[in-house]
Amino acid sequence: MDFLPIFLAMRDRRVLVVGDGQMADAKCRGALKTSARVTVFADNPSEQAFAWERSGDITLCAGLPEPTDFRDVTVVYAAHQSDQINDQIAAMAREKGAIVNVLDRTDACDFITPAIVDRDPVVVAIGTEGSAPVLARQIKADIEAMLPAGLGRFARLANGFRTRVRALPEGFARRNFWRDAFKAEGLVANASDEVIRQGFEALLERHIQSEPEPGSVAFVGAGPGDPELLTLKARRLIHEAEVVIYDRLVGKGALELARREAKFIDVGKKGFGVHATQDVINEHLVREAQAGFKVVRLKGGDPSVFGRLDEELAALSEYGIESSVVPGITSASAGAASLKQSLTRRDRNSSITFMTAHDAKGYAEHDWRQLVRSGQALAIYMGRKSASFLQGRLLMAGGDQDLVVTCVENISRPEERRFTSTLSRFAQRLDDDRWNGPLIIFVGIGDDQGVGISTAPVVKGASNGSH
Ligand code: SAH
Repeated sequence: MDFLPIFLAMRDRRVLVVGDGQMADAKCRGALKTSARVTVFADNPSEQAFAWERSGDITLCAGLPEPTDFRDVTVVYAAHQSDQINDQIAAMAREKGAIVNVLDRTDACDFITPAIVDRDPVVVAIGTEGSAPVLARQIKADIEAMLPAGLGRFARLANGFRTRVRALPEGFARRNFWRDAFKAEGLVANASDEVIRQGFEALLERHIQSEPEPGSVAFVGAGPGDPELLTLKARRLIHEAEVVIYDRLVGKGALELARREAKFIDVGKKGFGVHATQDVINEHLVREAQAGFKVVRLKGGDPSVFGRLDEELAALSEYGIESSVVPGITSASAGAASLKQSLTRRDRNSSITFMTAHDAKGYAEHDWRQLVRSGQALAIYMGRKSASFLQGRLLMAGGDQDLVVTCVENISRPEERRFTSTLSRFAQRLDDDRWNGPLIIFVGIGDDQGVGISTAPVVKGASNGSH
Protein backbone atom coordinates (compact mmCIF):
# COMPACT_ATOMS: atom_id res chain seq x y z
CA MET A 1 0.00 0.00 0.00
CA ASP A 2 1.46 3.35 -0.98
CA PHE A 3 -1.52 5.39 0.21
CA LEU A 4 -2.90 5.50 3.74
CA PRO A 5 -6.68 5.30 3.77
CA ILE A 6 -7.98 7.93 6.21
CA PHE A 7 -11.05 10.11 6.62
CA LEU A 8 -10.04 13.75 6.94
CA ALA A 9 -11.95 16.13 9.25
CA MET A 10 -13.33 18.94 7.06
CA ARG A 11 -15.48 21.00 9.42
CA ASP A 12 -14.37 24.66 9.26
CA ARG A 13 -11.81 23.79 6.58
CA ARG A 14 -11.48 25.07 3.05
CA VAL A 15 -11.11 23.20 -0.23
CA LEU A 16 -9.77 24.84 -3.36
CA VAL A 17 -10.51 23.50 -6.82
CA VAL A 18 -8.58 24.95 -9.75
CA GLY A 19 -9.84 24.21 -13.24
CA ASP A 20 -13.05 23.78 -15.13
CA GLY A 21 -14.76 20.95 -16.94
CA GLN A 22 -16.22 17.66 -15.84
CA MET A 23 -13.32 16.49 -13.72
CA ALA A 24 -13.19 19.73 -11.75
CA ASP A 25 -16.95 19.44 -11.20
CA ALA A 26 -16.50 15.85 -9.98
CA LYS A 27 -13.90 16.97 -7.41
CA CYS A 28 -16.26 19.75 -6.32
CA ARG A 29 -19.13 17.34 -5.94
CA GLY A 30 -17.03 15.18 -3.64
CA ALA A 31 -15.91 18.16 -1.55
CA LEU A 32 -19.49 19.46 -1.30
CA LYS A 33 -20.56 16.23 0.40
CA THR A 34 -18.53 17.40 3.38
CA SER A 35 -19.03 20.48 5.54
CA ALA A 36 -15.94 22.19 4.08
CA ARG A 37 -16.16 25.57 2.36
CA VAL A 38 -15.34 25.19 -1.33
CA THR A 39 -13.74 27.79 -3.60
CA VAL A 40 -13.40 27.20 -7.34
CA PHE A 41 -11.02 29.03 -9.66
CA ALA A 42 -12.17 28.57 -13.25
CA ASP A 43 -11.80 30.41 -16.56
CA ASN A 44 -14.86 28.81 -18.12
CA PRO A 45 -17.06 27.61 -15.27
CA SER A 46 -19.59 24.93 -16.18
CA GLU A 47 -23.34 25.38 -15.87
CA GLN A 48 -23.11 23.24 -12.77
CA ALA A 49 -20.46 25.48 -11.23
CA PHE A 50 -22.67 28.55 -11.82
CA ALA A 51 -25.61 26.73 -10.28
CA TRP A 52 -23.56 25.88 -7.20
CA GLU A 53 -22.49 29.50 -6.95
CA ARG A 54 -26.08 30.72 -7.21
CA SER A 55 -27.20 28.41 -4.44
CA GLY A 56 -24.32 29.60 -2.27
CA ASP A 57 -22.58 26.22 -2.16
CA ILE A 58 -19.29 27.44 -3.62
CA THR A 59 -17.37 30.67 -4.11
CA LEU A 60 -16.53 31.06 -7.76
CA CYS A 61 -13.45 33.07 -8.84
CA ALA A 62 -11.96 33.81 -12.23
CA GLY A 63 -8.36 33.08 -13.24
CA LEU A 64 -5.76 31.45 -11.02
CA PRO A 65 -5.30 31.69 -7.26
CA GLU A 66 -2.65 33.90 -5.66
CA PRO A 67 -0.60 32.65 -2.69
CA THR A 68 -2.93 34.54 -0.33
CA ASP A 69 -5.91 32.52 -1.63
CA PHE A 70 -4.50 29.43 0.08
CA ARG A 71 -5.07 30.75 3.59
CA ASP A 72 -6.82 28.10 5.75
CA VAL A 73 -6.97 25.75 2.78
CA THR A 74 -6.47 22.10 3.70
CA VAL A 75 -7.13 20.34 0.43
CA VAL A 76 -6.36 21.46 -3.13
CA TYR A 77 -7.44 19.87 -6.38
CA ALA A 78 -5.22 20.98 -9.27
CA ALA A 79 -7.53 20.12 -12.16
CA HIS A 80 -6.34 22.58 -14.81
CA GLN A 81 -5.73 21.31 -18.38
CA SER A 82 -2.14 22.52 -18.20
CA ASP A 83 0.33 20.31 -16.33
CA GLN A 84 2.59 23.28 -15.88
CA ILE A 85 -0.10 25.31 -14.13
CA ASN A 86 -1.04 22.31 -12.02
CA ASP A 87 2.60 22.05 -10.90
CA GLN A 88 2.63 25.74 -9.93
CA ILE A 89 -0.61 25.37 -8.00
CA ALA A 90 0.71 22.27 -6.24
CA ALA A 91 3.92 24.06 -5.24
CA MET A 92 2.02 27.07 -3.84
CA ALA A 93 -0.43 24.85 -2.00
CA ARG A 94 2.28 22.76 -0.37
CA GLU A 95 4.09 25.90 0.70
CA LYS A 96 0.96 26.84 2.63
CA GLY A 97 0.68 23.39 4.16
CA ALA A 98 -2.20 22.06 2.06
CA ILE A 99 -2.31 18.60 0.50
CA VAL A 100 -2.74 18.37 -3.26
CA ASN A 101 -4.42 16.13 -5.76
CA VAL A 102 -3.16 16.65 -9.31
CA LEU A 103 -5.57 15.59 -12.01
CA ASP A 104 -4.65 12.30 -13.69
CA ARG A 105 -1.14 12.19 -12.22
CA THR A 106 -1.05 9.80 -9.30
CA ASP A 107 2.71 10.22 -8.91
CA ALA A 108 2.28 13.97 -8.33
CA CYS A 109 -0.52 13.55 -5.75
CA ASP A 110 -0.33 13.86 -1.97
CA PHE A 111 -3.65 12.06 -1.83
CA ILE A 112 -6.02 10.38 -4.26
CA THR A 113 -9.79 10.33 -4.22
CA PRO A 114 -11.45 6.96 -3.69
CA ALA A 115 -14.70 5.82 -5.22
CA ILE A 116 -17.27 6.07 -2.45
CA VAL A 117 -20.51 4.47 -1.39
CA ASP A 118 -22.30 7.13 0.59
CA ARG A 119 -24.70 6.18 3.36
CA ASP A 120 -23.66 9.15 5.46
CA PRO A 121 -22.40 8.75 8.16
CA VAL A 122 -21.53 5.29 6.87
CA VAL A 123 -19.09 5.80 4.03
CA VAL A 124 -17.24 3.08 2.15
CA ALA A 125 -14.17 4.28 0.28
CA ILE A 126 -12.68 2.10 -2.46
CA GLY A 127 -9.24 2.73 -3.86
CA THR A 128 -6.96 0.97 -6.31
CA GLU A 129 -4.09 3.47 -6.02
CA GLY A 130 -4.92 4.59 -9.53
CA SER A 131 -4.27 1.16 -11.01
CA ALA A 132 -7.78 0.07 -11.94
CA PRO A 133 -10.51 2.73 -11.72
CA VAL A 134 -12.97 0.51 -13.60
CA LEU A 135 -12.52 -2.20 -11.01
CA ALA A 136 -13.14 0.35 -8.25
CA ARG A 137 -16.41 1.33 -9.92
CA GLN A 138 -17.44 -2.32 -10.21
CA ILE A 139 -16.76 -2.88 -6.50
CA LYS A 140 -18.67 0.29 -5.73
CA ALA A 141 -21.68 -1.01 -7.66
CA ASP A 142 -21.53 -4.31 -5.75
CA ILE A 143 -21.38 -2.55 -2.39
CA GLU A 144 -24.13 -0.12 -3.37
CA ALA A 145 -26.36 -3.12 -3.94
CA MET A 146 -25.38 -4.62 -0.60
CA LEU A 147 -26.06 -1.67 1.68
CA PRO A 148 -29.67 -0.67 2.28
CA ALA A 149 -30.55 2.93 1.60
CA GLY A 150 -31.65 3.46 5.22
CA LEU A 151 -28.31 2.42 6.64
CA GLY A 152 -27.08 5.95 7.33
CA ARG A 153 -30.21 6.82 9.27
CA PHE A 154 -29.89 3.57 11.20
CA ALA A 155 -26.27 4.40 12.10
CA ARG A 156 -27.28 7.89 13.27
CA LEU A 157 -30.02 6.48 15.48
CA ALA A 158 -27.52 3.96 16.84
CA ASN A 159 -25.18 6.82 17.69
CA GLY A 160 -28.00 8.57 19.54
CA PHE A 161 -28.57 5.41 21.55
CA ARG A 162 -24.98 5.11 22.74
CA THR A 163 -25.54 6.77 26.08
CA ARG A 164 -28.34 4.29 26.86
CA VAL A 165 -25.99 1.38 26.13
CA ARG A 166 -23.73 2.58 28.96
CA ALA A 167 -26.16 0.64 31.15
CA LEU A 168 -24.11 -2.38 30.08
CA PRO A 169 -20.59 -2.92 31.39
CA GLU A 170 -17.82 -1.58 29.18
CA GLY A 171 -16.10 -3.93 26.75
CA PHE A 172 -17.52 -7.01 25.17
CA ALA A 173 -20.99 -6.68 26.77
CA ARG A 174 -21.46 -3.42 24.86
CA ARG A 175 -19.86 -4.79 21.73
CA ASN A 176 -22.19 -7.78 21.84
CA PHE A 177 -25.17 -5.46 22.11
CA TRP A 178 -24.09 -3.58 18.98
CA ARG A 179 -23.27 -6.80 17.16
CA ASP A 180 -26.85 -7.98 17.73
CA ALA A 181 -28.32 -4.57 16.97
CA PHE A 182 -26.59 -4.35 13.60
CA LYS A 183 -27.59 -7.90 12.77
CA ALA A 184 -31.25 -6.96 13.05
CA GLU A 185 -31.43 -6.36 9.33
CA GLY A 186 -35.18 -6.06 9.21
CA LEU A 187 -34.77 -2.89 11.22
CA VAL A 188 -32.24 -1.27 8.97
CA ALA A 189 -34.03 -1.22 5.68
CA ASN A 190 -37.54 0.09 6.12
CA ALA A 191 -38.44 0.72 9.72
CA SER A 192 -39.40 4.13 11.03
CA ASP A 193 -37.17 5.93 13.52
CA GLU A 194 -39.58 5.04 16.30
CA VAL A 195 -39.60 1.32 15.46
CA ILE A 196 -35.81 1.28 15.35
CA ARG A 197 -35.59 3.02 18.74
CA GLN A 198 -38.07 0.57 20.25
CA GLY A 199 -36.06 -2.30 18.76
CA PHE A 200 -32.91 -0.95 20.42
CA GLU A 201 -34.71 -0.58 23.76
CA ALA A 202 -36.07 -4.12 23.67
CA LEU A 203 -32.69 -5.55 22.73
CA LEU A 204 -30.96 -3.55 25.45
CA GLU A 205 -33.43 -4.89 28.00
CA ARG A 206 -32.66 -8.43 26.90
CA HIS A 207 -28.93 -7.81 27.15
CA ILE A 208 -29.24 -6.28 30.64
CA GLN A 209 -31.25 -9.30 31.83
CA SER A 210 -28.98 -11.91 30.33
CA GLU A 211 -25.95 -13.38 32.02
CA PRO A 212 -22.71 -12.22 30.44
CA GLU A 213 -21.76 -14.65 27.69
CA PRO A 214 -18.88 -16.83 28.80
CA GLY A 215 -15.75 -16.92 26.68
CA SER A 216 -15.25 -19.76 24.25
CA VAL A 217 -12.72 -21.11 21.81
CA ALA A 218 -13.42 -22.19 18.23
CA PHE A 219 -10.70 -24.24 16.57
CA VAL A 220 -11.00 -23.11 13.00
CA GLY A 221 -9.37 -24.71 9.98
CA ALA A 222 -7.79 -21.97 7.88
CA GLY A 223 -7.14 -24.23 4.89
CA PRO A 224 -3.87 -24.29 2.98
CA GLY A 225 -3.60 -20.53 2.34
CA ASP A 226 -5.99 -19.39 -0.36
CA PRO A 227 -8.70 -17.47 1.55
CA GLU A 228 -11.32 -18.67 -0.94
CA LEU A 229 -10.79 -22.15 0.47
CA LEU A 230 -12.12 -21.07 3.87
CA THR A 231 -15.55 -22.34 4.84
CA LEU A 232 -18.36 -19.82 5.31
CA LYS A 233 -18.40 -20.73 8.98
CA ALA A 234 -14.68 -20.05 9.30
CA ARG A 235 -15.13 -16.63 7.69
CA ARG A 236 -17.95 -15.75 10.06
CA LEU A 237 -16.14 -16.89 13.19
CA ILE A 238 -12.91 -15.12 12.23
CA HIS A 239 -14.88 -11.97 11.63
CA GLU A 240 -16.63 -12.21 15.00
CA ALA A 241 -13.52 -13.15 16.97
CA GLU A 242 -12.30 -10.91 19.76
CA VAL A 243 -9.03 -12.79 19.99
CA VAL A 244 -7.29 -14.63 17.16
CA ILE A 245 -4.52 -17.07 18.02
CA TYR A 246 -2.76 -18.29 14.92
CA ASP A 247 0.05 -20.43 13.57
CA ARG A 248 2.80 -19.74 11.10
CA LEU A 249 0.95 -21.71 8.42
CA VAL A 250 -2.18 -19.58 8.55
CA GLY A 251 -2.43 -17.48 5.39
CA LYS A 252 -2.54 -13.68 5.54
CA GLY A 253 -5.87 -13.70 3.73
CA ALA A 254 -7.57 -15.49 6.62
CA LEU A 255 -6.15 -13.06 9.18
CA GLU A 256 -7.34 -10.09 7.20
CA LEU A 257 -10.92 -11.22 7.71
CA ALA A 258 -10.59 -10.49 11.42
CA ARG A 259 -11.58 -7.14 12.83
CA ARG A 260 -8.68 -4.79 13.20
CA GLU A 261 -9.39 -4.20 16.88
CA ALA A 262 -9.26 -7.93 17.61
CA LYS A 263 -6.30 -9.10 19.63
CA PHE A 264 -3.88 -11.13 17.50
CA ILE A 265 -1.57 -13.64 19.13
CA ASP A 266 1.09 -15.25 16.96
CA VAL A 267 2.15 -18.65 18.26
CA GLY A 268 3.84 -19.69 15.00
CA LYS A 269 5.49 -23.00 15.43
CA LYS A 270 8.39 -23.95 13.21
CA GLY A 271 8.99 -27.56 12.06
CA PHE A 272 11.83 -28.92 14.17
CA GLY A 273 12.42 -26.38 16.93
CA VAL A 274 9.52 -24.67 18.54
CA HIS A 275 8.49 -21.03 18.65
CA ALA A 276 5.81 -21.04 21.36
CA THR A 277 5.59 -24.23 23.38
CA GLN A 278 2.34 -26.11 23.56
CA ASP A 279 2.01 -25.10 27.21
CA VAL A 280 2.29 -21.43 26.32
CA ILE A 281 -0.35 -21.85 23.62
CA ASN A 282 -2.66 -23.61 26.06
CA GLU A 283 -2.15 -20.80 28.55
CA HIS A 284 -3.13 -18.19 25.97
CA LEU A 285 -6.28 -20.14 25.09
CA VAL A 286 -7.39 -20.57 28.68
CA ARG A 287 -6.54 -17.02 29.76
CA GLU A 288 -8.36 -15.31 26.88
CA ALA A 289 -11.45 -17.52 27.13
CA GLN A 290 -11.61 -17.05 30.89
CA ALA A 291 -11.51 -13.29 30.35
CA GLY A 292 -14.80 -13.78 28.50
CA PHE A 293 -13.52 -13.39 24.96
CA LYS A 294 -14.63 -15.19 21.84
CA VAL A 295 -11.40 -16.79 20.81
CA VAL A 296 -10.65 -18.23 17.41
CA ARG A 297 -7.74 -20.61 17.35
CA LEU A 298 -6.78 -20.63 13.69
CA LYS A 299 -4.88 -23.62 12.43
CA GLY A 300 -3.52 -24.19 8.94
CA GLY A 301 -5.37 -26.79 6.90
CA ASP A 302 -7.72 -28.88 9.01
CA PRO A 303 -7.33 -28.59 12.78
CA SER A 304 -7.69 -32.35 13.17
CA VAL A 305 -4.74 -33.21 10.94
CA PHE A 306 -1.34 -32.98 12.66
CA GLY A 307 -2.59 -29.95 14.53
CA ARG A 308 -2.15 -31.01 18.16
CA LEU A 309 -5.82 -30.30 18.54
CA ASP A 310 -6.34 -32.82 21.31
CA GLU A 311 -3.85 -31.21 23.65
CA GLU A 312 -5.55 -27.86 23.27
CA LEU A 313 -9.04 -29.31 23.64
CA ALA A 314 -7.95 -31.12 26.80
CA ALA A 315 -6.54 -27.91 28.29
CA LEU A 316 -9.87 -26.18 27.75
CA SER A 317 -12.02 -28.96 29.11
CA GLU A 318 -9.89 -29.00 32.24
CA TYR A 319 -11.21 -25.48 32.91
CA GLY A 320 -14.72 -26.20 31.65
CA ILE A 321 -14.31 -23.79 28.74
CA GLU A 322 -16.71 -24.20 25.86
CA SER A 323 -15.10 -25.15 22.55
CA SER A 324 -15.99 -26.15 19.02
CA VAL A 325 -14.09 -27.37 15.97
CA VAL A 326 -14.63 -26.10 12.44
CA PRO A 327 -13.00 -28.32 9.83
CA GLY A 328 -10.84 -26.90 7.09
CA ILE A 329 -9.36 -28.15 3.88
CA THR A 330 -6.27 -30.14 4.68
CA SER A 331 -3.16 -29.63 2.56
CA ALA A 332 -3.33 -33.11 1.05
CA SER A 333 -6.82 -32.43 -0.33
CA ALA A 334 -5.81 -29.06 -1.70
CA GLY A 335 -2.64 -30.59 -3.15
CA ALA A 336 -4.61 -33.30 -4.94
CA ALA A 337 -6.97 -30.64 -6.29
CA SER A 338 -4.06 -28.68 -7.62
CA LEU A 339 -2.69 -31.81 -9.32
CA LYS A 340 -6.18 -32.51 -10.66
CA GLN A 341 -5.85 -35.94 -9.13
CA SER A 342 -7.97 -37.97 -6.77
CA LEU A 343 -6.56 -38.98 -3.45
CA THR A 344 -8.00 -42.44 -4.08
CA ARG A 345 -8.53 -44.00 -7.49
CA ARG A 346 -10.07 -47.22 -8.60
CA ASP A 347 -7.35 -49.63 -9.74
CA ARG A 348 -4.64 -47.46 -8.27
CA ASN A 349 -5.05 -46.99 -4.55
CA SER A 350 -8.14 -47.83 -2.57
CA SER A 351 -6.79 -46.16 0.51
CA ILE A 352 -4.49 -43.31 1.41
CA THR A 353 -2.50 -42.69 4.55
CA PHE A 354 -1.98 -39.19 5.90
CA MET A 355 1.27 -39.52 7.75
CA THR A 356 4.11 -37.50 9.13
CA ALA A 357 7.74 -38.35 8.85
CA HIS A 358 8.64 -36.83 12.14
CA ASP A 359 6.91 -36.45 15.46
CA ALA A 360 7.70 -34.76 18.75
CA LYS A 361 10.49 -37.26 19.41
CA GLY A 362 12.21 -36.97 16.02
CA TYR A 363 11.87 -39.22 12.95
CA ALA A 364 8.59 -41.09 13.07
CA GLU A 365 8.74 -44.84 12.62
CA HIS A 366 5.97 -46.69 10.86
CA ASP A 367 5.35 -50.24 9.74
CA TRP A 368 7.11 -49.51 6.45
CA ARG A 369 6.72 -53.04 5.03
CA GLN A 370 3.02 -52.94 5.68
CA LEU A 371 2.77 -49.50 4.01
CA VAL A 372 4.62 -50.74 0.93
CA ARG A 373 2.74 -54.05 0.74
CA SER A 374 -0.70 -52.46 1.07
CA GLY A 375 -0.32 -50.70 -2.29
CA GLN A 376 -1.92 -47.55 -0.97
CA ALA A 377 -0.83 -44.00 -1.61
CA LEU A 378 0.79 -41.78 1.01
CA ALA A 379 0.35 -38.09 1.72
CA ILE A 380 3.29 -37.14 3.87
CA TYR A 381 3.13 -34.01 6.00
CA MET A 382 6.18 -32.28 7.48
CA GLY A 383 8.35 -34.53 5.35
CA ARG A 384 10.85 -32.17 3.78
CA LYS A 385 13.60 -32.47 6.35
CA SER A 386 13.10 -36.19 6.75
CA ALA A 387 12.90 -36.90 3.02
CA SER A 388 16.09 -39.00 2.90
CA PHE A 389 15.01 -40.97 5.94
CA LEU A 390 11.62 -41.63 4.36
CA GLN A 391 13.13 -42.59 1.08
CA GLY A 392 15.56 -45.00 2.75
CA ARG A 393 12.85 -46.65 4.83
CA LEU A 394 10.46 -47.10 1.91
CA LEU A 395 13.16 -48.51 -0.39
CA MET A 396 14.46 -50.82 2.31
CA ALA A 397 10.94 -52.08 2.89
CA GLY A 398 10.77 -53.09 -0.77
CA GLY A 399 9.28 -49.95 -2.34
CA ASP A 400 9.67 -49.80 -6.13
CA GLN A 401 12.44 -47.32 -6.93
CA ASP A 402 10.47 -46.05 -9.94
CA LEU A 403 7.32 -45.44 -7.96
CA VAL A 404 5.98 -41.97 -8.68
CA VAL A 405 6.48 -39.29 -6.01
CA THR A 406 5.09 -35.78 -6.32
CA CYS A 407 6.07 -32.93 -4.03
CA VAL A 408 3.84 -29.86 -3.86
CA GLU A 409 4.99 -26.77 -1.99
CA ASN A 410 2.95 -23.76 -0.83
CA ILE A 411 -0.25 -25.36 -2.00
CA SER A 412 -2.95 -22.86 -3.08
CA ARG A 413 -0.65 -19.88 -2.57
CA PRO A 414 0.66 -17.68 -5.38
CA GLU A 415 4.14 -19.18 -4.96
CA GLU A 416 2.94 -22.79 -5.28
CA ARG A 417 5.35 -25.10 -7.15
CA ARG A 418 5.83 -28.80 -7.55
CA PHE A 419 7.76 -31.57 -9.22
CA THR A 420 7.16 -35.18 -10.00
CA SER A 421 9.94 -37.67 -9.52
CA THR A 422 10.51 -41.23 -8.32
CA LEU A 423 11.03 -42.88 -5.01
CA SER A 424 14.74 -43.28 -5.66
CA ARG A 425 15.27 -39.65 -6.66
CA PHE A 426 12.87 -37.23 -4.99
CA ALA A 427 14.87 -36.62 -1.81
CA GLN A 428 17.90 -35.40 -3.78
CA ARG A 429 15.70 -33.08 -5.80
CA LEU A 430 14.31 -31.60 -2.58
CA ASP A 431 17.85 -30.92 -1.39
CA ASP A 432 18.98 -29.39 -4.66
CA ASP A 433 16.30 -26.81 -5.30
CA ARG A 434 15.83 -25.10 -1.94
CA TRP A 435 12.32 -26.19 -1.17
CA ASN A 436 11.71 -24.15 1.96
CA GLY A 437 7.94 -23.74 2.12
CA PRO A 438 5.38 -26.12 3.61
CA LEU A 439 5.22 -29.15 1.40
CA ILE A 440 3.32 -32.38 0.89
CA ILE A 441 5.05 -35.45 -0.48
CA PHE A 442 2.64 -37.70 -2.35
CA VAL A 443 3.93 -41.22 -2.81
CA GLY A 444 2.07 -43.15 -5.51
CA ILE A 445 0.24 -40.12 -6.89
CA GLY A 446 1.62 -38.49 -9.99
CA ASP A 447 1.06 -35.39 -11.97
CA ASP A 448 -0.94 -36.39 -15.02
CA GLN A 449 -1.06 -32.87 -16.28
CA GLY A 450 2.55 -32.84 -17.37
CA VAL A 451 3.41 -29.89 -15.15
CA GLY A 452 6.81 -30.30 -13.54
CA ILE A 453 9.35 -32.88 -14.58
CA SER A 454 7.75 -36.25 -14.93
CA THR A 455 10.49 -38.82 -14.68
CA ALA A 456 8.26 -41.78 -14.10
CA PRO A 457 5.06 -43.31 -15.33
CA VAL A 458 2.16 -41.88 -13.39
CA VAL A 459 1.71 -44.93 -11.24
CA LYS A 460 3.79 -48.01 -11.31
CA GLY A 461 2.37 -51.12 -9.82
CA ALA A 462 0.84 -49.35 -6.87
CA SER A 463 -2.19 -51.62 -6.85
CA ASN A 464 -0.44 -54.97 -7.44
CA GLY A 465 1.64 -54.98 -4.35
CA SER A 466 4.96 -53.70 -5.64
CA HIS A 467 4.36 -50.35 -3.97
N1 SAH B 1 -3.35 -29.11 9.89
C1 SAH B 1 -2.53 -28.96 8.72
C2 SAH B 1 -1.23 -29.68 8.83
C3 SAH B 1 -0.33 -29.12 9.90
S1 SAH B 1 1.23 -29.93 9.93
C4 SAH B 1 -3.32 -29.43 7.49
O1 SAH B 1 -4.38 -30.01 7.65
O2 SAH B 1 -2.87 -29.21 6.38
C5 SAH B 1 2.20 -28.85 8.94
C6 SAH B 1 2.45 -29.46 7.58
O3 SAH B 1 1.30 -29.33 6.78
C7 SAH B 1 3.55 -28.81 6.79
O4 SAH B 1 4.82 -29.24 7.18
C8 SAH B 1 3.21 -29.30 5.41
O5 SAH B 1 3.58 -30.63 5.24
C9 SAH B 1 1.70 -29.24 5.43
N2 SAH B 1 1.17 -27.99 4.89
C10 SAH B 1 0.47 -27.04 5.53
N3 SAH B 1 0.12 -26.04 4.68
C11 SAH B 1 0.62 -26.37 3.48
C12 SAH B 1 0.61 -25.75 2.19
N4 SAH B 1 -0.01 -24.59 1.95
N5 SAH B 1 1.25 -26.39 1.18
C13 SAH B 1 1.86 -27.57 1.37
N6 SAH B 1 1.90 -28.19 2.56
C14 SAH B 1 1.28 -27.61 3.60
